[in-house]
Order: sequence, then C-alpha cells, then structure tokens
Amino acid sequence: MIELRTPTQIEQMRPAGRFVASVISALAEKADVGVNLLELDELAHRMIKDAGATSCYIDYHPSFGAMPFGKVLCTSVNDAVLHGLPFDYTLQDGDLLSVDFAASVDGWVADSALSVVVGTPRPEDLRLIDVAQQALDAGIAAARSGNRLGDISAAIGSVARGAGLGVNLQFGGHGVGRTMHGDPHVPNDGQAGRGLKLRPGLVIAIEPWFLHTTDEIRFDPDGWTIRSADGSRGAHVEHTIAITDGDPIVLTARD
Ligand code: MG
Repeated sequence: MIELRTPTQIEQMRPAGRFVASVISALAEKADVGVNLLELDELAHRMIKDAGATSCYIDYHPSFGAMPFGKVLCTSVNDAVLHGLPFDYTLQDGDLLSVDFAASVDGWVADSALSVVVGTPRPEDLRLIDVAQQALDAGIAAARSGNRLGDISAAIGSVARGAGLGVNLQFGGHGVGRTMHGDPHVPNDGQAGRGLKLRPGLVIAIEPWFLHTTDEIRFDPDGWTIRSADGSRGAHVEHTIAITDGDPIVLTARD
C-alpha cells in the first residue's frame, strides 16, 4: 500500500533524515585504512544511543537472511555492494567501502547510503561512485509531482547506460515511512512516462548501485552480503526524499 504524508508529517520526518545524514557523514570521516568494519558499526551504534534513535537493522530478519542482522549498519567492501554484514575486517589501502544506514527518530525512518574509497583510490572506482551519484541526482530531479515512477527509474538507468554500466533490477529503492521498506518499489531502470503517478507526500528512498562489469549478483552463505557475480567492485548511494508541490526535499541531505 502506498501512503502519502502530509506536509506536517514530512516536517516530522526531518529529524530522522538529519540524524541519518549525520551518521553517514561521521562514518565517511572515520572510514580509513586500518579501521575495522566493527568499529564503524560501533560508531553508528553509539550515535543511535546518544540520539535516542532506533536501529532499523539490528532485529531485521526477512526470509532471505539466515539470522537477524544483528548490526546497525551495512558495510559492503569491494565486490560486496549491498547488505554487507559488518565483520572483523580491517580496511586496506584502496578499498571501496559502501555504508548503508537506516534508523528511526520520533517514529519516522530515514535511509541513506554512500560509497567511499579509503587510502589510494583507483580512478575507475572514483568514476563508478561518481556515476552512481549522478544517477541519484538524476533520479531525485525526476521525483516531481505529476511525473511517474518510471521517470525516476528511467533517469537513473539512462545515466548508468550512458556510462556503459548494466543495471540490476532485483534490488532498488522503496517507500519509507514508519518502517524502512514500503511500497512502491523504485527500480533503477525503467520506462519514462510509465507506472505510479507521483504525488506530493510520497516519501521514497532512491538508491542506485552499480557494478563495474556485470549486473549479476551472488549472495554470501549468510544470506545477507550481496556481491558481484564476477568479482568486480560496486558502488551504492542513497537518499530518502519527499515529493512536494515543488522541488523534492532531500531528507538525508548532508551538510
Ligand atoms: Mg538503505
């Protein structure tokens, strides 16, 4: 079911957005060569406690997970791109790290993700992140009342295809509200002018993610961490946005 939020409710969602943005910024600052993924999870956990926020991940246990997630953060490194379960791993020079974080504040959820390279970057990794960011920007620009959901998807997909990248349609964006995942599903490619008509009050996470040389994925045995099928690296960026009468509000915008 698709739920629309009133302008008052969208205002009430801003603290969650600001909090999630602050955690993503803190993680991006902390991530460095020699930092363990578990330290990043601890940092996010501490910030949740200090803010009186609630993790969307720690008890999350959909059918595909072998067990509840147990951490408050997704950390996906190199050929891992989505849902990376933080484990005892120390970041190495040149690693491409994607962090994905969702939490609720005052009963409203926000969800955001960012990819960074620690240490010496490979130029092709910086380009992959840049393309993902351009696709996110294009998707947000299309998130206007009167457009259709397919306009967002097509905007994302055309940036990817223009950069010679494939698009995987198994995982994409989603509605956000009282819980982390709601309708509609927001695919990262599609047909302009098709699908759900966008109306003021629709709040969605838009989250392009791309792999260097494939659009196919495989799952770790724990059911969580998703990797490229061919070992190539991935990038993932995400914002939670609200559609309005005018410009979309990027609830998880960072300073
Ligand atoms: Mg997310």
